[in-house]
Amino acid sequence: MKIIIIGAGPGGYETAALAAARGIEVVLISEGPLGGTCLNEGCIPTKTLCAMDAPDQAHKQEVIAQLQAGIAQLMRNKLITLVEGRARILGPRSVEAAGEKFEADAIIIATGSVSASLPIPGAELCIDSAAMLNLEEVPQRLCVIGGGVIGLEFASIYRKFGSEVTVLEFCPGVLPRFDTDLAKRLKASLAKRGIAIETSARVESVTEGLVHWTKGGKEYSTPADCILMAVGRRPNLGTLNLDEAGIEYTPRGIVVDSSMQTSVPGIYAIGDITGGLMLAHVASAQGRRALNHICGLADSIDFSVVPAAVFTVPEAATVGKSEEECAGFEILTGKANYRANGKAVASGEADGWCKVIAEKESRRIIGVHILGAHASDIIHEAAVLVALGATLDAASDIIHAHPTLSEVLHSAIRNAAS
Ligand code: NAD
Repeated sequence: MKIIIIGAGPGGYETAALAAARGIEVVLISEGPLGGTCLNEGCIPTKTLCAMDAPDQAHKQEVIAQLQAGIAQLMRNKLITLVEGRARILGPRSVEAAGEKFEADAIIIATGSVSASLPIPGAELCIDSAAMLNLEEVPQRLCVIGGGVIGLEFASIYRKFGSEVTVLEFCPGVLPRFDTDLAKRLKASLAKRGIAIETSARVESVTEGLVHWTKGGKEYSTPADCILMAVGRRPNLGTLNLDEAGIEYTPRGIVVDSSMQTSVPGIYAIGDITGGLMLAHVASAQGRRALNHICGLADSIDFSVVPAAVFTVPEAATVGKSEEECAGFEILTGKANYRANGKAVASGEADGWCKVIAEKESRRIIGVHILGAHASDIIHEAAVLVALGATLDAASDIIHAHPTLSEVLHSAIRNAAS
């Protein structure tokens, strides 16, 4: 069997590696560098900056280069052919790139997304997250448009670097799609660290060094030396020849079924291009699902249980349902604070909180939300409990090592159980 994968981000390259491991021949076509947005201008450079006290571009590039060499090594497989170029889909089995035509049994589109911008006067005076990662100097005043994941991560990073930071968020709260309790607590923690956050703020225009916005009918202007536009990302649909190939899409992304197959049998789409949860780990899981379907294999991947993390200080992480999503049925909740946890206090990381949500009738854990140090790691125990349908009682009985931050989750579970 032979497949064509378009795009070499985590969706594309991980699926290529998995296919090759199954003895499938792969043509991996990519216009951009190996690793896609995640490695080159997303997750990895952002986390490198998170770990620094001042921006160090050389070190950031070293980290990217080291990881890129690892992917290149993974792709050095006799079953994988790398093609550099822009792909055009010609039909259900055929793709053109770099002046050549490639034929295969199936095609997987994994071309990701690009930063979105607001249609406001002066938008061109703002920079996007990719440009933000390349700043050599720390701006004295940073204004961030959008209090979503990207906006808050950069606000947190540049506050640590010493910038005066203002975040302008259109919705009544930051992280609008997250559990409201979690989002409110994160907002308060960031405010305590000196980040000014304005919610229900509508940005109207940008002029040289000034962001103009309104709130409750009043007009405001925020002076800034750097303005980051972080109002979401949009799927990279433009150049694939989707219309002629007959592949259905909306402005939100390519339409797929639960096997990740598009409206054209044999053509699949995974990751940000499908407009769902724009997360690297979702893209690779969707790639696995698509490949399984191509191979006629079933799997048990549950796309309703997706852990997500926001790498602010403190970190926020979430899995399963938010309290707002449980509106139609009865729930039990349990909370615990980091300040009651020995390890958190001992290591000076006592700012944090955890909430566990269980369905009242079955007592199964269905959602966990954590704010605090290492939330992005602790959330995976919660993901396992949610995915396996563990009850509060079964989870309470699991012995946790002391003293560890994971005990915060255990305490919240026991509080919900009692
Ligand atoms: P987002 O959707 O998370 O946040 C965009 C924010 O901008 C929202 O809060 C929205 O209400 C706000 N907004 C929209 N219009 C506005 C306006 N006119 N004025 C002010 N605010 C406005 O998008 P993002 O932060 O740009 O991130 C893009 C994608 O990348 C998301 O899907 C995100 O999950 C993903 N991402 C994930 C991580 C991570 O997992 N750690 C990190 C970065 C990005």
